Amino acid sequence: MKQNINPQDLIIAPKNANGTIYVRQQKGFFQRLRRNIGGLLVLLFLALPWLDVNSKQSILLDLDLLQFHVFGMTLFPQDFTLIAGLFMVATFLLFFVTSWLGRIWCGFLCPQTVWSFGYIWIEEKIEGTRNQRINLDKQPWSVKKISKKMLKHLVWLAVAFFSGTSFLAYFVPVRELYSDMLTLQWSGTVSFWIGLFTICTYGNAGWLREKMCHHMCPYARFQSVMFDNETLVVAYDENRGEGRGARKRKDDPKALGLGDCVDCNLCVDVCPVGIDIRDGLQYECIDCGACIDACDQTMTQFNYPKGLISYTSEAKLAGKSAGPLRAKIISYAVLSLIVISGMVATVVNTVAVELSISRDRNVLYRINDNDDIENSYQLKILNKSSQTMRYQLKVTGLVGISSSKNQLIEVASGELLDVVLTLTASPEDIKQPVTKLTFIIEANDNPDITVSTETRFFAL
Ligand code: SF4
Ligand code: SF4
Repeated sequence: MKQNINPQDLIIAPKNANGTIYVRQQKGFFQRLRRNIGGLLVLLFLALPWLDVNSKQSILLDLDLLQFHVFGMTLFPQDFTLIAGLFMVATFLLFFVTSWLGRIWCGFLCPQTVWSFGYIWIEEKIEGTRNQRINLDKQPWSVKKISKKMLKHLVWLAVAFFSGTSFLAYFVPVRELYSDMLTLQWSGTVSFWIGLFTICTYGNAGWLREKMCHHMCPYARFQSVMFDNETLVVAYDENRGEGRGARKRKDDPKALGLGDCVDCNLCVDVCPVGIDIRDGLQYECIDCGACIDACDQTMTQFNYPKGLISYTSEAKLAGKSAGPLRAKIISYAVLSLIVISGMVATVVNTVAVELSISRDRNVLYRINDNDDIENSYQLKILNKSSQTMRYQLKVTGLVGISSSKNQLIEVASGELLDVVLTLTASPEDIKQPVTKLTFIIEANDNPDITVSTETRFFAL
């Protein structure tokens, strides 16, 4: 078995003469698992925008307002650390899962795989089984062939359009999006993005399929550096399978000098990327397990033990496995946990209001008609809660100081409000040229929502 595959090691996938891969549908444990996981992911993808948490769409990345609603929490560009943390967790988890379970993401979770298998399923329902599809493509164009092809592409396009619209619902409020669709009121921008996502989905899942993984996916390029000889991969047990060869069920393979591979070619026929796993670990393999199910089916028919092709590791095949726990895996898991803990602590300690203050840069201070000292400030108050809030403003640090802004300050949910105010103090109360002050804002009906920021008061 090869490891850390280089591009020059690539084995060209065996395809039909016209370059098309006609995937045979396969039943079995891993295909059932993949379909169930894929179905659940599609359901979540479609349903999530329709769910509300705290009266807000559960996930809405509002790029116009630069607000990201995630399960009741609203993130702003100011929450950059949380957003960066999310990317870090995703990266460490990907490293962790890839080092341990290989390309499980590609085979079972990647939208490209889920949609491609969905499109293959539609193709099979309309054009028939693998052999029927091969025959159909060989036939000259006829009304029957054109109708089948047209129907397939129309259904593919409809699925792509629905997928594109559902994807955009993560960026535009979903109810608005669909009511505008029904009344034909989509803006040019919305129509453009839905058109683009429709074309991309149709092109990727209908036409490009495995080419997307081979030539465009960056993860497919760098995942091999995370592999080691304990990483789980789909592999053919060469020692057991070779020499391969056809035989009758009753034949004794040992007497014929044969291994357990009956050379039925099923593992190749079901492979969505068109490779022969018996040629060794290959860069194209997405670990979908279809060849395992196919081979297990053949092994059962011949009364041989299952597992000629299996999820295993190079070390296991060589009988030298020390188990999946190793320093690399533990480090990725620990790093993920550290970043997740940091994010949880940040979320728990996040206050639903932010305050920043800047002084009037033109004048340090002014003396008014009463000979009192005035300093001007600009406050920026960001309401990060999901409702309109009214805040009380207090200033501490100088006895007798008064503010030009004494009434409650109302800020809508998600609004960043500018407040300009002047603080005034009598010269008798001012003991030094620069006095440290603290601005405190507190939600009128919830004292837990409070934040304070320090600034300076200049005089004399
Ligand atoms: S070789 Fe097997 S596991 Fe790999 S992509 Fe093909 S069918 Fe899936
Ligand atoms: S499915 Fe199994 S028995 Fe059939 S060709 Fe592939 S490895 Fe050999």
